[in-house]
Amino acid sequence: MQDKNRITKEEGLRLFKKADILELGRMADEIRNRLHPECIVTFIVDRNINYTNVCINRCLFCAFWRDENDPEAYILRKDELFSKTEETIRLGGTQILIQGGLNPKLNLDYYTNLLKEIKSRFDINIHGFSPPEICYMADRSDLTIRETLRILKDSGLDSIPGGGAEILSDRVKNIISPRKIKSGRWLKVMEEAHKLGMRTTATMMFGSIEKAEDIIEHLNAVRNLQDRTGGFTAFIPWSFQPGNTALARSIEQRAKSKNSELRTPNSELHPATAVEYLRILALSRIYLDNIKNIQASWVTQGLKLAQVALRFGANDFGSTMIEENVVASTGVRYRVSKEDIINAIKHTGFRPAQRNTYYKIIQYF
Ligand code: SF4
Repeated sequence: MQDKNRITKEEGLRLFKKADILELGRMADEIRNRLHPECIVTFIVDRNINYTNVCINRCLFCAFWRDENDPEAYILRKDELFSKTEETIRLGGTQILIQGGLNPKLNLDYYTNLLKEIKSRFDINIHGFSPPEICYMADRSDLTIRETLRILKDSGLDSIPGGGAEILSDRVKNIISPRKIKSGRWLKVMEEAHKLGMRTTATMMFGSIEKAEDIIEHLNAVRNLQDRTGGFTAFIPWSFQPGNTALARSIEQRAKSKNSELRTPNSELHPATAVEYLRILALSRIYLDNIKNIQASWVTQGLKLAQVALRFGANDFGSTMIEENVVASTGVRYRVSKEDIINAIKHTGFRPAQRNTYYKIIQYF
């Protein structure tokens, strides 16, 4: 799939900064059409299950985490988790996305037992534990990343979500998530998972304090790894949602005090605009010539902009999200049904289809 005439970092930067938005869209749409000439737009039926909101990382951009002693802190009871999984299957779901904070109360046995118990009860794909969680498990158990992944895989983990990447620039990470794993370890987890035959997604959160150069670095790192392993199924760019986050408060304060470190084009405390979202989506489609699927993020952009995204490079609507808590904790809460997604896709002229984790089509609509 890789194109020998792929664009360079410099060309990517020039396109990002200078190209006309409609020209970018046209280029991305052409690539999308070449990769998916059947004009199908896919989605998956699944739910996010967040097993705990206690997290020692306390990332500044995250509104989800709580301290251990916070009255809202929780560890999900197993029977609740099982009933959520059961309901997902009843609603036609094929996957659960299990993610949570880095909770010192949970050790590797907790995760492996959880995986085994789910697998013994349900026939469902477990997409779970983003690289920060996997590194936390590895470090606390004195295991390598590879050993940890092997244990999780043997216990029932099928695939891994791309969370925790934000922007793969340590300069940015040191400011917005200083306690979190750095870019090298995120890439290492993905590479080891791919080598073990596990498929993963890659994500990018933009619209905080990054520069255009950081976005290109991120895309380049993902493209380089995909050249080596081919293990990414999809790329999902989404924008920082500032509501209820320490980062938003910090930007506001520093902007007032005229400190330039956190002053960016997006420092007006609103998420990336629709145009910024579409530019980055289109650039991702153009740059990542070796990743077949690009997801539109209706969870952060709403259903209407997700429809437009289908002409800016996206070929997938992501998940129906029977449940979502992380973005919702910022106050952004788009609630849509499977039928809403099917109708939204149909009205753009594409044919909707439900897929599984590996992009195999299960049902057309
Ligand atoms: S983004 Fe993840 S690692 Fe960071 S505070 Fe939130 S839950 Fe913890």
